[in-house]
Amino acid sequence: MDLYTQIENLPGIGTVYQRKLKKIGIKTVRDILYHFPHRYENFSNIAPISKIKLQETVCVMGKILEIKNERTWKKRMTLTQAVIQDNTGAIRAVWFRQPYLTRTLKQGDNVCLAGKVSVDNSGAYLSNPAYEKISANLTHTGRIVPVYPETIGLSSRWLRYIIKPLLVNFSAKIPEILPQKIIQDNNLMPIRQAIWQIHFPDSMAMARKSKERFSFEQLFLIEMAVLRARMRLNQETAPAMPMDVNLIKRFVKSLSFKLTDAQRKCTYQVLKDMEKSRPMNRLLEGDVGSGKTMVALIAALQTIKSGNQVAFMAPTEILAKQHFQEVSSRLGDFNINIGLLTGKEDKFISKKLKNETIEISRKKLIEKTQKNDLDILIGTHALIQDKMKFGELGLIILDEQHRFGVAQRAKLTTKSSKQIPHLLSMTATPIPRTLALTIFGDLDLSIIDQLPKGRKKIITKFVAPANRNKSYSFIKQQIKKGRQVFIICPRIESQKDKENIDPTSPWANVKSVEDEYERLSKQIFPDLKLVMLHGKMTPKEKEKIMKDFKNKKFDILVSTSVIEVGIDVPNASVMVIEGADRFGLSQLHQFRGRVGRSKYQSYCLLFTDSPAVKTRQRLKALISSENGFELAEKDLSIRGPGDFSGTRQWGIPDIAMDSLKNIALVEKTRNSVQQILDEDPELKQYPFLLERLEKFQNKIHLE
Ligand code: ADP
Ligand code: MG
Repeated sequence: MDLYTQIENLPGIGTVYQRKLKKIGIKTVRDILYHFPHRYENFSNIAPISKIKLQETVCVMGKILEIKNERTWKKRMTLTQAVIQDNTGAIRAVWFRQPYLTRTLKQGDNVCLAGKVSVDNSGAYLSNPAYEKISANLTHTGRIVPVYPETIGLSSRWLRYIIKPLLVNFSAKIPEILPQKIIQDNNLMPIRQAIWQIHFPDSMAMARKSKERFSFEQLFLIEMAVLRARMRLNQETAPAMPMDVNLIKRFVKSLSFKLTDAQRKCTYQVLKDMEKSRPMNRLLEGDVGSGKTMVALIAALQTIKSGNQVAFMAPTEILAKQHFQEVSSRLGDFNINIGLLTGKEDKFISKKLKNETIEISRKKLIEKTQKNDLDILIGTHALIQDKMKFGELGLIILDEQHRFGVAQRAKLTTKSSKQIPHLLSMTATPIPRTLALTIFGDLDLSIIDQLPKGRKKIITKFVAPANRNKSYSFIKQQIKKGRQVFIICPRIESQKDKENIDPTSPWANVKSVEDEYERLSKQIFPDLKLVMLHGKMTPKEKEKIMKDFKNKKFDILVSTSVIEVGIDVPNASVMVIEGADRFGLSQLHQFRGRVGRSKYQSYCLLFTDSPAVKTRQRLKALISSENGFELAEKDLSIRGPGDFSGTRQWGIPDIAMDSLKNIALVEKTRNSVQQILDEDPELKQYPFLLERLEKFQNKIHLE
């Protein structure tokens, strides 16, 4: 038996438990040993019974004088009562609903009990204490005891009981994957000590130190994996496309506005990358409305004129369609073929037909793509279905890249028959520094840190419930002036007709699109034209609604968060967000970015029923800051990386998730990784590390 022995081959773990363990991703001995406690109970101070005080958590050692079960008729449950005595005194212990205890604990047994001291009519007692028969080696009491994350049916007691003997048998077999030098330089606890100390620490300080070691180890692996992926990509070849300055100038001149300096700088970085025969892997970050699409269009134009194709992928059909329109209006004069491929509709613009848009069959479109008769194909993830192949794919553009699964991204780069295409991803959700150095560490960053001239600051306000009607009057005024309004609600469906809604549930009073739409149309804005939009509608319906809204057929759009990404309705000037506390700061910032896209003064009104001070503080950040980067950092520190831009899908262990908030630690590990890779890029001296990395990469899915 070794570390990779499957749990079903271990004694003492029945099929029921095997299933439960597998459910949380535990398959091997190693997985169990790496299932870490999230906190500890300190039962290390054994107190004489005569000295214990009410409300304290204590641990006592003594002999069971008596133990018996009783049924309480009032509460209809079984109580197990025991009396335990040491040489200073005696105390009662009471357990609720654990009648089987009398089978384990018998009169005369020497035991250790740990728990809280409570009091009732008959005096002080230990309430539901942890228990253990006294032996040379205590596991559940008399020491610092690990508490594992709650999982149904897997108690901490059971896990301790399983983990301890595994540690005894296997801890000495765990190879040290971190290079000795790195351990010394960073004063880390060696693996064999750390694996014991994280489960059964000798002191809280030792627990901390072991946790630090594993945090370091996890970050080290992530960064190592990412930097090695980057090294590998650098060895591939992509089409080198020399910058055509005249072409770019002609395009820029065709615009009705001047590019911002930031747009120029980023465009230059992208074009410079594409001149090389090494695949570009660049992320373009820029706040909503900063004009990222322009940079992408120039890169696309350059690619097409170099004889290569472009795949332009957006996360939603609405966005894909919007890009299709933008590409055809801005690149239409450049003599190119443009295709749109979404779930439902496929379109084609042919240069031969003088830019006329025609409906085309999916089959034809795929054929054209393969034969290189199509210069740029725009679409949703339909672009990466298996039958899609490009003839000469030179550039992939991913809009709002964080919306794509990592697997989808990986799939895209294999779409060309010949070389590896360049990759330009775009996002409005800025990447906090710790993530830029770790999970996104293989990407080069370009940042548009400037908005086009003439944009007015969006006025963001909290609206107290009492001022709701005032806001509605304000909205009426804005609409009278010709503007349009977005109203975002946290959920789709009405809860009214559903039974069994717990009125105390945090979701009970959350506004739904359906309810709000009805209430607003009937009671508040009977004279205005309202429409609703949500994710349960078909893509066709959604698209039509967005199009109609853009064409001013409606005054107010009541929507769920589906409108979050990229939608451009310059005439809209008010963004109302109901239940604002339900959304992350970055997401709220995205909503806000839907307005203020024109010369009109725009407003963002935040509603929340949450009385929590913390919530308000969090939302205040949005009022005081218009900087998406700042807000993303705040989001990360408040909510952790799990909620951040889909990080959860990477399958990163919890302990690493935590460390992703810690910039000092991230930088420290980054330096260590770089040091090792500089000296030994193939990791020839570190076979254990290499082996671990390979397993690790299979388990988590990085860029
Ligand atoms: P985002 O970065 O959010 O994707 P877009 O590329 O959609 O932003 O641009 C937002 C709007 O600003 C679009 O209507 C676009 O045409 C316009 N725009 C882009 N660049 C400029 C600029 N330099 N000056 C003025 N308007 C611009
Ligand atoms: Mg955009």
